[in-house]
Amino acid sequence: MKLETKIIHAGMTPDPSTGAVMVPIYQTSTYVQTAPGVNKGFEYARSQNPTRFALEEAFAQIENGKFGLAFSSGVAATDAVIKLLAPGDEVIAGNDMYGGTYRLFSKVFEKFGIKFHYINMQDAENIKSYINANTKLIWAETPTNPLMNIVDITAVASIAKANNILLCVDNTFASPYLQNPLDQGADIVMHSATKYLGGHSDVIQGCLVMNDADLRDKLYFIQKSCGAVPGPQDCFLVLRGIKTLHLRMQRHCENGEKIAHWLRNHSKVKKVYWPGFTDAPGHDIAKKQMRGFGGMISFELKDESKEAYTKLLSSTHLFSLAESLGGVESLINHPASMTHASIPREERIKNGLSDGLIRLSVGIEDADDLIEDLNKAIG
Ligand SMILES: *Cc1c(COP(=O)(O)O)cnc(C)c1O
Repeated sequence: MKLETKIIHAGMTPDPSTGAVMVPIYQTSTYVQTAPGVNKGFEYARSQNPTRFALEEAFAQIENGKFGLAFSSGVAATDAVIKLLAPGDEVIAGNDMYGGTYRLFSKVFEKFGIKFHYINMQDAENIKSYINANTKLIWAETPTNPLMNIVDITAVASIAKANNILLCVDNTFASPYLQNPLDQGADIVMHSATKYLGGHSDVIQGCLVMNDADLRDKLYFIQKSCGAVPGPQDCFLVLRGIKTLHLRMQRHCENGEKIAHWLRNHSKVKKVYWPGFTDAPGHDIAKKQMRGFGGMISFELKDESKEAYTKLLSSTHLFSLAESLGGVESLINHPASMTHASIPREERIKNGLSDGLIRLSVGIEDADDLIEDLNKAIG
């Protein structure tokens, strides 16, 4: 079945008690038992909720996986993956990734004795020199946030397999419409469903998708033991959001392409980061593993002064100055002071994330209106 069809039908079985076409919001914490231990498979809502189960089935199908698990946020999903590990284990992660992932790894898990190596993953071969007997997980994000670097999933997956290491890919920026890492050999796909899956900036949620039943059981055990489950209302919102993912992504891609090219030709713009440019560093790999290039764009002005970028960031009207991404409305963000402020400045600069970098989440409005808004703000 094609993705466009799965997006509409995944997880949507009519409600057994009424035939309701839409999955009801099962707003309950517990379920009645007819005798001790005799129940309908539902005991307590941290472990089982029909609205969540419908969504988890949808997550699995749209990522071409067997099993899906929903979490109360993207970072809660990441947290569950790291809890597969034990003290002494080592993780290889990218040096350009979501700031909250870096914060979770370096500020929470390092003190439990897990070691993280943050490396340049654009060259997959570079990973090999960091592998030792303790390496248990490779954490890859592609395209990366915010520099839009591309990691070759197939190449990293083959290195991971050869060394018996799990590979988890954060697929938030691409969404399942543009990229399916399990098909390219990843063991786990992670999403911040807060972004493109939810799509309307009205919910915080995360998910994991995998094919291996044993891995699913371990992650389900962590999900219910640690308890970072989303509520049924939030599950309903994400289920609803997913149904238009393909239509939204088409427009995000179209608008992203127009705006990326327009920015690149602007006399006041120094550099534009977007994997769709034929001369972008990861373009060939992006073309191979993605079905489009998305609506995330970063750029820098020629005038690198704080005054210049601050003026731009405060002058847009259609682009709202806010963290997050992937919603229908356009957002503008300053990674250094907002989404990536938790990364030490020295570390940021070393990895190419300058003070003046501006990140756009291009929404699904009219592209010309968005360009006019940016044009006025750039001045
Ligand atoms: C937002 C984001 C996360 C974290 O997800 P939350 O839902 O905010 O917890 C992780 N990875 C990427 C790439 C993100 O953009």
